[in-house]
Amino acid sequence: MAMERRRREDREKKTSEEERAASFRRFLILAIVVVAITGIAFITMFLGTVKRLQYVYTNQSYQDATILRKNEVSANIGSFIKEIEQMRTLRLDDQQTLVNGLKPAVEQVLASASGNKETIRKFFKETEGLGDLTCLVYDAATGKMLLDEAGLSGEAGVYTDDLAISFAVSAQVQAGGTAVLYGVTESAFEKDMQNILGERLASYVTDDDILYWVDRLTVLDDGTASAARVLDPKNPQRAGMKLGMGGTGSGPDQFATEGLLAAGGGQIFHTGEAGWTLGDNGTVQSTTLTCAEYYEPYSWAVCGAIRLDSIGLASVASQEASRKETIRLGAMLAIGFVEMLAIAIFVILRGNTRYFNVRQKRLREKVEKDALTGANTRGYGQTLLETAFHRFQDGTEASPILMVLDVDKFKSINDTYGHDGGDEALKRIVKSATRVMRGRDCVIRWGGDEFIAVFYKMEHARSEQVANRLRKAIADTEVKHGSQSFQVTVSVGVTWFRFGDTDYNNALKRADTALYKSKEEGRNRVCVAGIEE
Ligand code: GH3
Ligand code: MG
Repeated sequence: MAMERRRREDREKKTSEEERAASFRRFLILAIVVVAITGIAFITMFLGTVKRLQYVYTNQSYQDATILRKNEVSANIGSFIKEIEQMRTLRLDDQQTLVNGLKPAVEQVLASASGNKETIRKFFKETEGLGDLTCLVYDAATGKMLLDEAGLSGEAGVYTDDLAISFAVSAQVQAGGTAVLYGVTESAFEKDMQNILGERLASYVTDDDILYWVDRLTVLDDGTASAARVLDPKNPQRAGMKLGMGGTGSGPDQFATEGLLAAGGGQIFHTGEAGWTLGDNGTVQSTTLTCAEYYEPYSWAVCGAIRLDSIGLASVASQEASRKETIRLGAMLAIGFVEMLAIAIFVILRGNTRYFNVRQKRLREKVEKDALTGANTRGYGQTLLETAFHRFQDGTEASPILMVLDVDKFKSINDTYGHDGGDEALKRIVKSATRVMRGRDCVIRWGGDEFIAVFYKMEHARSEQVANRLRKAIADTEVKHGSQSFQVTVSVGVTWFRFGDTDYNNALKRADTALYKSKEEGRNRVCVAGIEE
């Protein structure tokens, strides 16, 4: 019997362990799936964000800054050319008016000077309100030059109408056989313009990483181009300097000269390496974006250049910012990920524990409770009796009262009301017995129609009385089965553990004998085991 019990206990233990292992395996798979999905999502999100951030902070800002500066240079060159044009028109008008206004005075001088070129020269030299006035005095009849200090008529020394082309503004007066062509020559006018425009161009320079200058382009007879610096606010010493072309000139100039002539209008852009003089740092080679536009009236190439390396340096700074931002974001995401993971594990563990506990409870109920009556099973009952016997043996607790119950003539109940009727009777018996009990007291279905009622903390003297109450409670109970109703009785054998018992079976044997006696004496009665049993 003990062996059978141990085997059963082993079986139960094994089932429980298998359950636990299976449950843990399920949890592990779920946890791995959750961690993998979350991990992949996290890494994808993180890498995507890092990439985007880097793009925004470095590439995007570099590109944006480059485009901004390019637009700035392009717009400045455009507006500078407009300024040149406006200034030229205004000044031409202005000067033409002044030149025209001089006509009466010039007529007077010519009339009074009567060919004396010295008087005429003096007059023009001393006339105020105009820049450099140039005059060509000639004989009205022959065209022979009387005065040409600028040498405009060349070696011929004769007046021709072509000479007027050399003037930006001019007027012609004739009096007393002498004629004069006077005004401001193109070159004098342009020089004047250069002085004013130099200042204007300087105002466009905002920092060390931007340059503006103007070159005058000349196409030589052999078709090659040459350039001479007209304006250079940053490097005024270069003004007038001829710039060698064809590989000997500086990159941006060569580009501007050749590019503009080839483009035939509009703005052109070029990116290449060029040397930059940066304060105390000397000259540095930098990637340079040059923009140029042609101003035809003077054959000017208006140029602007940006040192792109400076934008690159600024974007290195933003790369650092991006790195820090990325680290901060990464840390935030990592914390979020770990939190999510912790919550997921917590939820899974909790769910798993609950699930396991519910299963365990169900399993225990299966093992401990009799499916039909709800009484304790024989297996669990044996454990209870064993425990009680040990407690009695080691003096921890007094022996409980053990009452063995057997249904009287149960076979005939089965015969009369069917097996289901018999089952119903067994259920009612357990219910009625439970009503008499308190606390830890319990009923064990020992087998078939046999039960053991265990009453803890009960004086031996009261056992017979309680057994009778139990017996009566069962006998008084109406068992309903379909439309029928009947009553059942039990015979009871009562005992408790005694000193000298080696295990609880000794007591059960005594109770069986007492039960047998109850049956013998007519059933539906109680018999307490005597000393002799
Ligand atoms: P006695 O008064 O001498 O005990 O007579 P009895 O007919 O009750 O005889 P016994 O206790 O030996 O018979 C037990 C019967 O209980 C035998 C079996 O058919 C019946 N039985 C055992 N288990 C069940 C059960 O789960 N349901 C039903 N309906 N009958 C059961
Ligand atoms: Mg019986």
